[in-house]
Amino acid sequence: MPNRSRSLLTVICSLLLSAVVSLPVLANRLYRVKPGDTVYFIAKWHGISQEKLAEANQLARPGFIIPRQVLLIPDPPTLADEELYTVKAGDSLFRIAQSFGTNLNWLRTRNQLNSDEIYIGQRLKVPTSPAKPEEPKTPGSSTGNSQYVWNIPDLMARHPGKVFLQGTDGAKQVALTFDDGPDTEYTTKILDTLGRLGAKATFFLKGKNIPGREWVVARIVQEGHIVANHSYSHPNLRKMSPEQIVNEAQRTEELIAGITGKRTALLRPPYGEMSEEGLDRLVARGYQMINWSVDSGDWRAENADQVLVNTLPQIKPGSIVLMHSAGGEGQDLTPSVEALEDLIITLQGRGYQIVPLTELIPVQAYK
Ligand SMILES: [Zn+2]
Repeated sequence: MPNRSRSLLTVICSLLLSAVVSLPVLANRLYRVKPGDTVYFIAKWHGISQEKLAEANQLARPGFIIPRQVLLIPDPPTLADEELYTVKAGDSLFRIAQSFGTNLNWLRTRNQLNSDEIYIGQRLKVPTSPAKPEEPKTPGSSTGNSQYVWNIPDLMARHPGKVFLQGTDGAKQVALTFDDGPDTEYTTKILDTLGRLGAKATFFLKGKNIPGREWVVARIVQEGHIVANHSYSHPNLRKMSPEQIVNEAQRTEELIAGITGKRTALLRPPYGEMSEEGLDRLVARGYQMINWSVDSGDWRAENADQVLVNTLPQIKPGSIVLMHSAGGEGQDLTPSVEALEDLIITLQGRGYQIVPLTELIPVQAYK
């Protein structure tokens, strides 16, 4: 590297470093608890305090974890001349010291190590290296439609007790909800997992997906889950006339009633969007509108861990979790399916009960 750019880098680095000392604690890595693990050792391996670990994971009782539970691991706090390195297979403390131009003593002291044993995935403090400068931020790239106004508070005020984002924070309970099904690939796998773990959920079905998959709808009900209405063709209902909105709900209601004999009373509008007049008409027909408080982002996640990172930090008593049981054309919901078992086990480890929507909020599933 030519000298000029090296000294430029040094200047940039020292500027960056001065701003980096007190970063907020980010929970960005996951650890799956194995039999015999303790909070004490997991915290120690990752260079954080037991308190930080318990706080990041809302542990029911300090030190209480169960095998397979997923823990979010916050980064340990670092000083200006330290950065974090994640130990990889084949690493030794000596090799890490060499590649970061330091010595064993520095690593032992800064990481408060009692021995030179290290673990894959362990976060070690190492000396800061001349890092690549951050991508320059492009000014004026802020997006978003300033015209848009979220109308849920208006809808709630217009029809008290008929529009929900979450339950009360009384009991340690959460509800899992799955949108856009039925399909024959993901919905069935999700049902398998729920059945294996004894968890009950709510499926907001898209009417257009039902013909030819009636058996999946029947299976959802047979296995003790709730079937609910997610419109027929999945439009933005806020942009439709009240007549169109009623028609969307009605078509799906008829399809589900034809299979199960149950008339849906819960509706989740696609994208969470509903017009005031549309809601008036639906409420008159016995509907309650259910949105969500925790978005798993499963349909755009690259892997199961990302679904867990999106979801776990937001969970609190009364949460309604949005997931999907079918995707659009070419959409892969494998991350959602794979995350589900870990999510349920982790919630149970945190002391949560997973309940049907009707136990979380004062609503009836059917008319
Ligand atoms: Zn949807």
